[in-house]
Amino acid sequence: MGKSVEPVEGKWRERLKAMAARMRRERPLLLLLALVALIAIVADTDWLAVLVVWLVLSLSVLGRRTALPEVEEPPIPQPEPLVFDPLPQVAATLGALDIPAFLLNSEATVLFQNKAAERAFGALAVGSHLSARLRSPGILDMVRETIATEEPNQIEHSERLPSERVYMLRVAPVDLSQAVNGSQALKEKLYLLSFRDISELRRIDRMRSDFVANASHELRTPLASLRGFIETLQGPARSDAAAHERFLGIMFDQATRMSRLVDDLMSLSRLELKSHIAPDQTIDLKPLIGHVRDALLPLADDLGVEIRTHLPEGKVEVLGDRDELVQVFENLIENACKYGQEGKFVDVYLKNAPSDAVEVTVVDQGPGIPAEHVPRLTERFYRVSVADSRSKKGTGLGLAIVKHILTRHRARLIVKSEVGKGSKFTVRF
Ligand code: ADP
Repeated sequence: MGKSVEPVEGKWRERLKAMAARMRRERPLLLLLALVALIAIVADTDWLAVLVVWLVLSLSVLGRRTALPEVEEPPIPQPEPLVFDPLPQVAATLGALDIPAFLLNSEATVLFQNKAAERAFGALAVGSHLSARLRSPGILDMVRETIATEEPNQIEHSERLPSERVYMLRVAPVDLSQAVNGSQALKEKLYLLSFRDISELRRIDRMRSDFVANASHELRTPLASLRGFIETLQGPARSDAAAHERFLGIMFDQATRMSRLVDDLMSLSRLELKSHIAPDQTIDLKPLIGHVRDALLPLADDLGVEIRTHLPEGKVEVLGDRDELVQVFENLIENACKYGQEGKFVDVYLKNAPSDAVEVTVVDQGPGIPAEHVPRLTERFYRVSVADSRSKKGTGLGLAIVKHILTRHRARLIVKSEVGKGSKFTVRF
């Protein structure tokens, strides 16, 4: 029983509380009504009528709904603006890029580094400041300026470790205006710092200017000597017949040296032009090597060297350009005769093993080449001894021409040499 009475009592208590609350809220109006009623009674109006009117008005005031919000309506929750974080998408895109790239925020903190950057500069903890990796004040200033102005910037930068490289560094704000829609807010601004490796371009530039300097230098020496002799012949040796004879001989040699040099330079530039076109004639190397040996016999005789060829049975055919291959073997056999003169013999081996590549090897028993020079022999104008090469009518371009021709023929030059024992130049097709 007690159980069923309890809720009824509770309900009444609630109602009374609500009524008290309403009365408190409507206190000014209720007091006003009471005052008007009192005045009416004092003014001798029928007190019963006044009482009835006061009661009706008071009750209707208490029963008003609009004026009595019993419970305050909770405020309607406004939807939070959606925050768009572009980092995952931008990072995924940069991950596919093969040039080093960092993503920075507006504090120059590294938010992401791609694999190429990791390979080039080592792993960097996400959240580190850029200065933890790149200390160059020039780079940091450039990044700061871009963050402040939202304008891209670039700077050239060299790295010594792990290897010497030159980079063009560019920093630019990542424009995300297309990625966010009207109801989204951007989590943070992103800046892309990318590294373009220009080491190879710089190397080619340097090579080009070295080449021009070397070629001019090589031509200047015989030219200066020619001018000197011409002046002498015009002046002090004007009527000296013996001097004429001797000087004209030297002048002829110098002019020949200049034309050899110009011929070699022309050869190189012609080869460069067609370096990407593979030759397509079928060439039998056996008669070709025989022809080269015959052409060099007078030179070999002068030097007291014997050229011995070791050729297999049958044809040995490769795809090639006849004139260019003649030039290759002429250069190699002539070098072997000139520089390996003291060995007295030059051997030329032609190998055509069925499962192996075709190989031509030129072997001399001369003084050999110190190991540190071997990797550089095919560079233009590179000579172990300039004086030795000049005295042997060398231009320093022979092996550079050989290398160019072989590259076009998809063939390789392998040099093995031991000081005191001789050298071995192998062409592998
Ligand atoms: P060069 O016109 O000076 O002969 P090359 O390019 O043909 O130029 O050769 C470059 C240099 O390589 C030569 O100056 C010489 O010092 C060295 N060299 C080439 N062949 C031999 C060889 N068979 N033995 C020793 N040194 C050689």
